[in-house]
Amino acid sequence: MSLKPLLPGALSDRGQQMTLGVMGGGQLGRMFVQAAQAMGYFTAVLDPDPASPAGLISHYHIDTPYDDEQGLAQLMQRCDAITTEFENVPAPALLTLGAHRPVAPSSACVAVAQDRIQEKAHFVACGPISGVYPAPYAAIETPELLAAVPADLLPGIVKTARLGYDGKGQIRVKTREELAAAWEQLGRVPCVLEKLMPLQSECSVLVARGADGQVVAFPVQKNTHHDGILAITEVHEGAVPADLAARAQASTVAIANHLNYVGVLCVEYFVVDNGAGGSDLIVNEMAPRPHNSGHYTQNACDLSQFEAQVRALAGLPLPTPRQHSPAIMVNLLGDLWFNANGVRAQASEQPVSPPWAQVLALPGTHLHLYGKLSARPGRKMGHLNITGGSVAQVRETAAKVLVLLGLPPLA
Ligand code: ATP
Ligand code: MG
Repeated sequence: MSLKPLLPGALSDRGQQMTLGVMGGGQLGRMFVQAAQAMGYFTAVLDPDPASPAGLISHYHIDTPYDDEQGLAQLMQRCDAITTEFENVPAPALLTLGAHRPVAPSSACVAVAQDRIQEKAHFVACGPISGVYPAPYAAIETPELLAAVPADLLPGIVKTARLGYDGKGQIRVKTREELAAAWEQLGRVPCVLEKLMPLQSECSVLVARGADGQVVAFPVQKNTHHDGILAITEVHEGAVPADLAARAQASTVAIANHLNYVGVLCVEYFVVDNGAGGSDLIVNEMAPRPHNSGHYTQNACDLSQFEAQVRALAGLPLPTPRQHSPAIMVNLLGDLWFNANGVRAQASEQPVSPPWAQVLALPGTHLHLYGKLSARPGRKMGHLNITGGSVAQVRETAAKVLVLLGLPPLA
């Protein structure tokens, strides 16, 4: 990537307004577009969905498939640099774009994140630097590898190597018979078997790294999932023990440096029982983009993860982000539209907007909805960031919000 910054509001070498592009038009693309536009960039989105959340608000929306040659050519013609908002964008498409325009993260980095087997091998390679390793695992790609799986990986979780998200493509197994049946059920595609770990909690870390190798880490996020989907992120003093947080940040920086990564990277960790009355850290997986758990940065930090993505892509400076408020983020799934005020509506009933006016009457509540035209159970419709003067205050507001939305209380 060129180190010459792409200055917002300027005319580019193409003789056009400086324009940043994104592969994918989901909510992460939308918030990237919003951050880029706030700084004065033009934006372009490639997403086949004519009503994609990012496409709806971008200067340019190219609605072809991700691997369509003409679509990619249009994107290159429109853009001075291009990023991605989801890891399953075809890596060859990024390679094509990267031959003509700065692309961050690179196709090679995205390819590693797309494949759990490569991803874990990368984590193992970084372990000696940071002392943080993945859970014990084995790759299952052939019947021979299946038969050779060590018994001490059971009970475990079989995960498809590619295309899993929100806990999809995963089966828990206790015995070799269940393992064989699970691999069969997953279509004998390449998988990993991971040992089931005694999780105490889960956390994640965002870093942003520039083409010059400068890297900054955000504060560590504590995450709570419900049914395999992120429900709550808490970022404040005491959410994650300080020693583990420092190790998680160091590990994430090592993972980014070792890939020569450019852009925003999020790495997920497990906090596990170390068997001696304490805790240890295990690296789970990475996302080559901003992350749902990093949304709190929009209202609680002086640099949001999306502005960091813009800056890294455009070759602008990346000062160390400072969190100025304790924060809790509540994910807003489509279920809430059928569950207003905690009363579960019948599946056939029309969606009803959650009680936003009551939620927004609470101080320090920041509503982010993604402009999706219809609510469906399980669909990520938006998130709510809660900030305040103290941890106690933020927790108190969050408790009230969760009651209003009919969601389970904080742990
Ligand atoms: P996403 O992309 O939404 O983060 P995913 O489908 O890629 O999820 P993982 O993050 O690997 O899948 O796993 C989903 C959840 O399952 C984890 O957040 C954790 O709660 C649980 N889990 C995964 N692996 C293990 C393990 N080895 N031991 C115990 N729990 C695990
Ligand atoms: Mg995960």
